Amino acid sequence: MDAAILSILPPRDGLPLEPSSLSQIRNVAILGSTGSIGRAALDVLSHHSDSLRLVAISCSKQLELLEQQVSAFKPQYAFALDSYSHEVRKWAQKYQADDGITRRSDSHENLLRLMESQEVDTVVAAIVGIAGLDSALAAARTGKRLALANKESLVVSGALMIQAARASGAEILPVDSEHSAIFQALQAGTHPKQVKRVILTASGGPLRDWPLDQLSTATVENALSHPTWKMGRKITVDSATMMNKALEVIEAKWLFDLTLDQICVVVHPQSIIHSMVEFCDGSVIAQMSPPDMRLPIQYALTYPERLPGPIPCMDWTQTMQLDWKPADLERYPALELGFEVVQKSGSCGAVLNAANEAAVQLFLDQKIKLTDITNICRDVLNHHNYSANPTLQELKDLDQWGRNEVHRWTLSQC
Ligand code: MG
Repeated sequence: MDAAILSILPPRDGLPLEPSSLSQIRNVAILGSTGSIGRAALDVLSHHSDSLRLVAISCSKQLELLEQQVSAFKPQYAFALDSYSHEVRKWAQKYQADDGITRRSDSHENLLRLMESQEVDTVVAAIVGIAGLDSALAAARTGKRLALANKESLVVSGALMIQAARASGAEILPVDSEHSAIFQALQAGTHPKQVKRVILTASGGPLRDWPLDQLSTATVENALSHPTWKMGRKITVDSATMMNKALEVIEAKWLFDLTLDQICVVVHPQSIIHSMVEFCDGSVIAQMSPPDMRLPIQYALTYPERLPGPIPCMDWTQTMQLDWKPADLERYPALELGFEVVQKSGSCGAVLNAANEAAVQLFLDQKIKLTDITNICRDVLNHHNYSANPTLQELKDLDQWGRNEVHRWTLSQC
């Protein structure tokens, strides 16, 4: 930004003159550090080690990679949380007398205790699925900054998460690229009445140009060949069915306190515009950048400041085309489920998420067709015992019920 433009901006007291480090050191825990978001978060931290101090990492059972991360980053704590894994138990016993630098543990309780302590002020919640709920909720209850990649926490228990964050003063900052884009665009006008709607962009997934009548024949390999984003297996299948966008519609409702008619989805194949906000005066503010998750991760950690980082910039010397088109509900019936859950809320998010997680696993195990996933979710959602204000325990029970129902559904088809 040139000096003439800077001179018309109000002074920002407390910010460093040179944007090379943050004005405040953050003590960071990365939960799910061996997954794609966790690894990207570690890369961001490695570029800002003077401002972002790594306190803890956790994985499910990828012990080899976890130990490589321990060697490279020397955090105070490392957790492996798959309590069913014999290797994890052996690993925790081996390191019971810690190495003097990093304490290892396989205890969920120890992790939750750390979330509640003053040793950590910033949590990157990147555990996939409902497994990440308790730790995200603990961070929200104890006034942390929560860099939230685990959208399931909001889909399953958005009301409880937002209530907890409001009571404790926790900040929930989105890591999901679409919600980060909306959050950044909202800096242009934050009064709720100024926002007409948000426009979530969707790549359309790897099967967006397939003939409709062939979608049911898509193999696991077809569904995992995402054209623009490199992501984990579960979210890539969700992208192929557009269930990912359905979950993001629900996530947007909770993060930004939106009503059904304030959320719309468009297909934007290039994944350069990550989402947009349309304001009451007709202005649309879009956030653009190459598809790289390190940008939303870094922004969630450095907000309200911005730092140069490892993320490549746009190449403005190249001709580029940006396209968008309405999302086709015939091709992507899962999207409708997201809007339905926003409308009905209550227990619906927990049931949809559980049914989807279980069905995606069955698809990855080649036991059902890709198009079965949405049909199963619709069926399980339709016949669950709806509750308008479920407790956390009720949501967890419904999660288990939803998974059991999916297996019952598949058995009934045999
Ligand atoms: Mg996303």
